[in-house]
Amino acid sequence: MNTLTVPHWRAKAACSTADADLFFPDPDTPQERIDQAKQICASCPVKQACLEDAIRRGESEAICGGLTGRERRSVVALDTGRRLRRPGRASARQLAVKHGAHLLVALVEWKMSVQQVAESLGSTPMGVYRAYLLLVPPRPGLVRNKKPSRIEELLRTSKETLRSLERRGLSHSEIGVVLGAVLNSENTPLPQSMVSAALSVLRQREEGIRRLSKNGVDGLERLQAEEMRVLRECGAGLSVSDVIALEGDAIVRLHRNGSGLTLRDIAAQLGLCRETVRKAYLEMTSDQQVVRDLTQDEMGEAA
Ligand code: SF4
Repeated sequence: MNTLTVPHWRAKAACSTADADLFFPDPDTPQERIDQAKQICASCPVKQACLEDAIRRGESEAICGGLTGRERRSVVALDTGRRLRRPGRASARQLAVKHGAHLLVALVEWKMSVQQVAESLGSTPMGVYRAYLLLVPPRPGLVRNKKPSRIEELLRTSKETLRSLERRGLSHSEIGVVLGAVLNSENTPLPQSMVSAALSVLRQREEGIRRLSKNGVDGLERLQAEEMRVLRECGAGLSVSDVIALEGDAIVRLHRNGSGLTLRDIAAQLGLCRETVRKAYLEMTSDQQVVRDLTQDEMGEAA
């Protein structure tokens, strides 16, 4: 006789008190009900364990780990079954070139965490973060902390030229020669691999935007709105202004409420870079009273 064992993480499931029907959609279930279930999953502390368990069991219908059966099959198809167990080393460029559209849809539409996407694609959270930056142009006014890669730069300056040269039927090496003459004074051709990668990233970006555009909302807007979450989950790449916009209030409140927390503690608690938190704090609180409130250590660091 089989003994059914309930996994220990089930005790923490956010859906334990929710309407169970929500998690078993049929073909006629309205999208709003599916989104309602996914919202519960989005805040579930055991989402990752639930997703892996559903994939392992081959659960085909229920919403588990924030994904429907169809969405999980898509993840598994990409994953080849091997990568979920052992994170690989796909580079940001490989991710963007081969799986860019899927990566964007998984992050924004399916609300997968950066960690989950990284595992499903055989990469690391930092790889997903860099692929995201390659795929999504920054929204106006947002200054990214990281120096753009050569492909990002090429897409920023020459996206339309790349497209029009390809439309005219030039090979990728010929496009490299033309762009080399336009972009640098030494006429050094751009490597064919760079041109091919940039064009693939463009295609993946457009496919992702197309799949995310619905109900009158532009897919690019949805992608750009998700940027802070992606950065935060990667624990890297946030600029001082990002930290102020995201956590400014929390940092000042935590530091001033008499809890005895230092900026170092607060940075650790919020999963942010200590130095960036310190600079953000000083920028937000340039008045003398607040500076007097800094601990001795922090004053030393600030000097
Ligand atoms: S991820 Fe969703 S389905 Fe899985 S345990 Fe959490 S709330 Fe329930």
